[in-house]
Amino acid sequence: MINGYLDLRSDTVTLPKAEMMDAIANASLGDDIMGEDATVNELQRKAADLLGMEDALLVTSGTMANQIAIMNFAQRGQEVIVGNESHILNLEGAALAAVAQVQARPMTVKNGYFDPEIVESLISSGDIQRAKTALISIENTYNLNAGQIVSIENTKEIKELAVQHGLPVYLDGARIFNAAVALEAAPKDLCKHVDAVQFCLTKGLGCPLGSILAGSKEFIQHAKMNRQRLGGGMRQAGIIAAPGIYALDHMIDRLKEDNQKAYQLAKKLSAVEGIHINLDNVQTNIIAVNITKEDIDADKFIELLKEKQIKVKKIGKRKIRMIVHYLITDENIEYLFENMKGIMSGSRTVQHQLFD
Ligand SMILES: *Cc1c(COP(=O)(O)O)cnc(C)c1O
Repeated sequence: MINGYLDLRSDTVTLPKAEMMDAIANASLGDDIMGEDATVNELQRKAADLLGMEDALLVTSGTMANQIAIMNFAQRGQEVIVGNESHILNLEGAALAAVAQVQARPMTVKNGYFDPEIVESLISSGDIQRAKTALISIENTYNLNAGQIVSIENTKEIKELAVQHGLPVYLDGARIFNAAVALEAAPKDLCKHVDAVQFCLTKGLGCPLGSILAGSKEFIQHAKMNRQRLGGGMRQAGIIAAPGIYALDHMIDRLKEDNQKAYQLAKKLSAVEGIHINLDNVQTNIIAVNITKEDIDADKFIELLKEKQIKVKKIGKRKIRMIVHYLITDENIEYLFENMKGIMSGSRTVQHQLFD
C-alpha cells in the first residue's frame, strides 16, 4: 500500500525503502561538480561496469539523460530516428524541438521490433532540402504502455545498419533491467550494440530520483557539459547516489518477480468477460487492459477501482495500464483480480470490438 492505495499507475510511485534512507544517512558526500562526491563516483563506476560502458554519469531524470544524449549526438536542425511510441518523442515536453533543437523522424515499432528496413528507409545523408540523420534512438523495454522487449539480435541488426551509415545508436533503457531479467541476459549484453544508454533508478529499482547515462569516456565528458547547461550539475549528489548503489545491489534480480506477477495477473484477467489483454504483449512488468463492456469505460473502471483502494492509469477511452513493482505482493495480485472480475461481472458486454 502506498498512501492507502494499491497503486499500479506506474513503478515510479514506490517510496524509498528503509535501507535506502539508511544509505542516504550514512553516505559520504562531496561537491560532485568538482568530482568529489565519493558516493556518486562509486555509483557511476558500478553502473558503467554493469552496462559494459567506459563511464557513466548520474543525472536527475531519464528525461534529462535522454536529452543530454541527443544534444551529445546531434546538431541543431538534424534528425533523430525514434519509435513513434517512445518516451523521447511523446513525454518529454517536446524537448527534442524545444531544447535539443532537432527534428524527430518517427518510425512504427511493432511488438518491440525495430525493423532495419524501416530504419534504413528513414536515414537521410542530408541535402539542401532534407535534414541529415544524426542518430538512431531505440528504447528497451519499448513503449511505456506495453513494456516490450527489444531483442539483443535486433539491437545488433540496428547497430550494423548504423555503422554502415556512420551513425551512432542510443538506447533509452529506462526499464532495461526488466528486459535483462526476462531474457536471462546480463545487462551489458543488451547494451553491447549501442553507443550510449540510460536507465532510470526510479522505475522498478525503487529509488526516489535519478537516472544513469553511460557511454564512452569522451561521451560522458561531453555529457557533463550538456548536463551543466541544463542546470543538472549537482553538489552533494551522494544523497541520490546512495539509494542507487543499494538498488543496483539488491533490486535488479528481483525484477523477475514483478515480471512474473504481471504475467500471472494478466493471464487470470484475460479470462474475465469484459477484459481483453494481448498476452503476447505482457513481456515484462506492464499490463495494458482493454475494456470490452458497453457500460464501463476507463474513467468508470478507475472510479470503481478507487472505491476498492486500487489505482490504475488511463491510457485510452477504454484502456488502462497497470505496472507491477516491488510493493505488489501475491495477495495483492489476487485482490486485484477478484475486484476487477467483480466489477466486470455486473455490466454489459460491448457488441463490437472497440480495442485493437
Ligand atoms: C520513465 C521513462 C523515461 C523518463 O524518465 P523520467 O525520470 O521520468 O524523466 C524515459 N524513457 C522511458 C522509456 C521511460 O519509461
